[in-house]
Amino acid sequence: MTAGNKRFQAVKGTRDLLPLETAVWAAVENVARRVFGLYGFGEIRTPIFEETELFARGVGESSDIVSKEMYSFVDRGGRNLTLRPENTASVVRAYVQHGMHALPQPVKLFYIGPQFRAENVQKGRYRQFHQIGAEWIGAGGTRADVEVIEMLWRFFVELGFADLTVRINTVGDRASRSRFRKELVSYLRPKILELSEDSQRRLLTNPLRILDSKDSRDHAALLGAPDLSDCMSEESVLFFNDVCGQLQNRGIHFVISPKLVRGLDYYTNTVFEIVSEGLGSQNAICGGGAYEGLVEELGGQPTYGVGFAIGEDRLIEVLPEATRAAMTPRGPVLLRALGSSIEVLAATAALAEELRAVGIPALDLGEETPQRTFAHADHRSSPAILILGEDELKTHCVTVRTTADRKQVTVDRSELVAMLSPPFGGAAGKREP
Ligand code: ATP
Ligand code: MG
Repeated sequence: MTAGNKRFQAVKGTRDLLPLETAVWAAVENVARRVFGLYGFGEIRTPIFEETELFARGVGESSDIVSKEMYSFVDRGGRNLTLRPENTASVVRAYVQHGMHALPQPVKLFYIGPQFRAENVQKGRYRQFHQIGAEWIGAGGTRADVEVIEMLWRFFVELGFADLTVRINTVGDRASRSRFRKELVSYLRPKILELSEDSQRRLLTNPLRILDSKDSRDHAALLGAPDLSDCMSEESVLFFNDVCGQLQNRGIHFVISPKLVRGLDYYTNTVFEIVSEGLGSQNAICGGGAYEGLVEELGGQPTYGVGFAIGEDRLIEVLPEATRAAMTPRGPVLLRALGSSIEVLAATAALAEELRAVGIPALDLGEETPQRTFAHADHRSSPAILILGEDELKTHCVTVRTTADRKQVTVDRSELVAMLSPPFGGAAGKREP
């Protein structure tokens, strides 16, 4: 045993995002802000924790989230609170709290931020993860569903994705859904022991969710199960056909997935998911759907809502390589002073400021050794090292070592900015092999 102090680690299921990675996250979030803004969505930031009851009602007691994944605690005032496991319930709470029903409808809101669920940690599944989502509330109809999916599609296209699929289905209106629920339960009840443990529980609480179970025992038991589509009201069928027709007209690629259901009780009619082949079994990067009962459930008037949540962690794991490279910031130009004279050090610092003033990132290393300067250049993908000594000062020049070709040239100070401006060094300042 050493007597050293304890070294702390980030808690299981949480992680630090470090520079370079955070730059990509910020760039992705900026694309979301810009694209959602094009559709008139405004950003909302809700608190990280809420009353536990908000989620128990809003997400549904029987959902996986509420039944086993919430981080709940009692605060010093004896209040039952929960770290938000998703953001829709909070957004709807805010809609009701701020009387947004009195605004012209629909109200269009988006959010970006961390969510918390106590889950089995694995690739693409964390306990603190991040979602980018949007909610269209009020003035519903097929147009709302279609526009929300179209906005989502545009977002993914702008991020350079080509291998994504929108899976879409309808769970029908409330009457259709409860008809189907009855049929499904009477079909599965005799087979209950063939189901996975999770689905045995779901049969009592949330039987529809068994349909999109990932367990092969459930898949086997479901062969021959009644079809959701056989229980649909005529209205629900027409609504869904209209949504699909409009999506087709707008050139959005989708597949109808008759077994897709969402885990929450409040979904009605359209539900959808976006999947990426690159993610294995955690392949869903976005889930969404329409909800008719939620605003009312949380104390407002009956109001149409439709929205989605993108898993930002998973999205960034499968981000196309070219997009990631374009989003990785250019490394800074490095400046190295030759010798320790006050004049040279001051001139080096002043040159760094001049470069920053015209938007060129510059890192002044002072009187640093060549080896350590190269190590910095490597680590930071710097496009160039600038060297300044007595000779350069006298002749008003700078010695520039470009990283890409490892050549050293001496240039006049008046030519320096033009030489270092993009595309010099490439978008990410990457060195050629
Ligand atoms: P899954 O079936 O993968 O558990 P979910 O249905 O629980 O997903 P939603 O509640 O619809 O997921 O959340 C929307 C998106 O948030 C998901 O598509 C996924 O990308 C992401 N997400 C959900 N839970 C996690 C998690 N624990 N870690 C990372 N991302 C997550
Ligand atoms: Mg889940």
